[in-house]
Amino acid sequence: MTTQIWSTVDFDAKGVQTGDLCLPHSVHRSAYGVIPIPVAVVNGAPGPTLLLTGGTHGDEYEGPIAIRRLLCGLDPASLKGRVIALPMLNAPAFRAGLRTSPEDGGNLNRAYPGDPQGGPTSAIAHYMSSVLLPMADYFHDIHAGGSSLQYQPFVSIRRSGDVALDQAALSAARAFGAERILIWDYSPDPRLSTSESNRQKVVSLGGEFGGGGSVSRPGVALVEAGLRRVMAHWGMIEDAPAAPGRPARELQIKTRDYYVYATRSGVFEPAVDLGTEIAQGDLAGQVWSTEDLADRPSEQFFRHDGTVLCLRHPGLVQRGDCLAHLATEVPQ
Ligand SMILES: [Zn+2]
Repeated sequence: MTTQIWSTVDFDAKGVQTGDLCLPHSVHRSAYGVIPIPVAVVNGAPGPTLLLTGGTHGDEYEGPIAIRRLLCGLDPASLKGRVIALPMLNAPAFRAGLRTSPEDGGNLNRAYPGDPQGGPTSAIAHYMSSVLLPMADYFHDIHAGGSSLQYQPFVSIRRSGDVALDQAALSAARAFGAERILIWDYSPDPRLSTSESNRQKVVSLGGEFGGGGSVSRPGVALVEAGLRRVMAHWGMIEDAPAAPGRPARELQIKTRDYYVYATRSGVFEPAVDLGTEIAQGDLAGQVWSTEDLADRPSEQFFRHDGTVLCLRHPGLVQRGDCLAHLATEVPQ
């Protein structure tokens, strides 16, 4: 079955268009209704196609704002190629300020390649896989920690095993100009957007640029400048902000041991900050009982060396929640 989503924009028309993808959604309130998913197309001189997505998770805001700032300054007369931008890709989740969709509970970044007959989240993933990614030469799916996590900002690539594809992605990540590049090569999940784009041999970037369900000013600034730098790297625009003087720190996450999970429910008191350098066995924090003053706090320890890249944002935690994770330098 092909997609049931249709578009109010013509992806091949020149110039600037804004409109919607229309996802049929027949419900009690609206028998013939659609879920509108905002889309912009900027089409200049012949050249490559860049697919930009934010709001894959609906409580992550740096990417959506930076994409919209970029669009405001993008002139098709000075653009080589085409930008297709969907800054609120999982639109129902974005409108609700939630990581997952209130329509079907779906996590769009665990939904690829998607299913046109599934719920709205799966149908969006399928449209990405079957319509948008096949048009793309380059793809950047921009994330942040959302409501439950805080990140030190980084741009990322996901290794595909295709040497040329991975090298093109790494070159783009270096051109982006973040202080950190995370190279995902452990436990690839086939349901991720960048797993799908790797299958389709589209040069892809990801990244986390803030968190806490809030808007990080440095995160927005980094994404906007980084997108312009990487577009210049790909020959799509001429002018871009200067890159930072020193090269990025290239990081990796090797095993599950890089993550710390709560072993009891309660209130998490971190013992570290983002960026703290950790030795195996260091205290990550402690979880205090919400009930019994006689209870001693439960200490949670790091099981590996590394730098703290990510921390739990809300104080309340349940057993099984991720409290922190580490990354280590990629050996040169
Ligand atoms: Zn995300």
